[in-house]
Amino acid sequence: MLPAKTFQDRVVLITGGGTGLGLETARRFGRLGAKLVIASRSDEHLVPALESLQAEGIEALSVVTDVRLPKSVARMKDAALDRFGQIDVLVNNAAGNFLCPSKDLSVGGWKVVIDIALNGVFYCSREIGQHMIERGSGHICNIVACYAWTGGPGTVHSAAAKAGVVAMTRTLAVEWAPHGLRVNAVSPGVFQTEGAAQRLWPEERQEQTILRAVPLGRFGQSSEVADSILFLCSPYADYINGEILVVDGGAHLGKGLEI
Ligand code: NAP
Repeated sequence: MLPAKTFQDRVVLITGGGTGLGLETARRFGRLGAKLVIASRSDEHLVPALESLQAEGIEALSVVTDVRLPKSVARMKDAALDRFGQIDVLVNNAAGNFLCPSKDLSVGGWKVVIDIALNGVFYCSREIGQHMIERGSGHICNIVACYAWTGGPGTVHSAAAKAGVVAMTRTLAVEWAPHGLRVNAVSPGVFQTEGAAQRLWPEERQEQTILRAVPLGRFGQSSEVADSILFLCSPYADYINGEILVVDGGAHLGKGLEI
């Protein structure tokens, strides 16, 4: 989609970069010349992901990080700067989610999702944002979800966190634009990753219910979501700031009547 070398010598840090959308996004940035830092809680995901990036000739570093812990986030930034000297793009992709009726959700279950998907996004944005402000340039792309607007049964924790990230995206976009930063978000509908399928539509009937609501009649591909992230972080989007780009096959519009 974007020309070769669009991200030549740019350094891109992706949280949750060892699996699913994060890894697909890392791969696509790397193929266009970026150097990658991928971060998540365990080497179980990071090591094979790093090897697969390096096997394609992509320069990459993995850093074990828990985005819930500000000190861990600070160490992630230091490791990235020690290796590459700068961070040009931050993709806040790490999240946790599981289906649970709100009345049954424990306090611990609520807190853990809010901690990863809302607090973690702020800790990473603040830490890396300070570095970008010092340099006078940088792009942040947050990954939200369309239930940030509509809510979604069984996802009260994640929907509330993503709605918070929508507000955070717009706030930081305005606050940090004078420092040369752009802050945007991509809002995917349902797309196929191993993690999402296991947690969010473990049964055939749930899968079919989701698909019936998508006018295009299919799940998205993580590559299609990743391409939108790359676009927003590219020079071709230099005048786009504070935007939430919906990538959901039209699902947020509702399917309407069969005609
Ligand atoms: P995924 O494969 O489960 O990715 C989540 C990633 O977050 C994992 O790599 C995980 O790695 C990392 N992570 C979890 N807790 C963390 C923590 N405390 N600190 C650091 N990293 C942590 O899910 P996905 O489907 O690719 O989703 C990617 C993004 O898209 C998420 O923001 C999700 O909310 C959003 N989204 C997905 C869908 C969908 O249909 N798939 C729809 C809308 C939005 P470790 O386990 O190694 O920590």
